[in-house]
Amino acid sequence: MTKLKYINDLVVPYSNNVRIDIHLIFFEMRIQQYCKHCNKELQGRTDKKYCNLHCKSAFQYQQAQEQPERFYNRVDNQLKLNRRLLKNFNKAGKATIRTDQLNSEGFNPNYFTHYWKNTKGDVYLFVYEYGFIKRTENTIEKYILIQWQDYMEK
Ligand SMILES: [Zn+2]
Repeated sequence: MTKLKYINDLVVPYSNNVRIDIHLIFFEMRIQQYCKHCNKELQGRTDKKYCNLHCKSAFQYQQAQEQPERFYNRVDNQLKLNRRLLKNFNKAGKATIRTDQLNSEGFNPNYFTHYWKNTKGDVYLFVYEYGFIKRTENTIEKYILIQWQDYMEK
């Protein structure tokens, strides 16, 4: 909604036969926003989308209920990307890579399919047949990359 307000027209004498007309025009812009969950008018900041955190989580819950495949696809896509990256950086069967390098390619270590614990108790996370574990060497965070082996099945 846009409102246009006229405040004033000033006429300023300049000399005997010249005058300057000054028109002052004032624009007021108001874009009304409504809560995405309860449709109540929102007050304050124009970038707000919800009344409060309750409305936000209620809306997101409802969306997730209506579109469960969206969540499935998001997880599925991240797993596929993770697997592709682990595969690309682990051609030899074992490799080391800086975490920031792999993460900058889109790798997200929170998405994995299963884990394997070795006899020392180290937990390797796997994305299908490609595994990784985080290590810090000389204050540099790295992933050790390994591949799934038959003996890990037990
Ligand atoms: Zn609301």
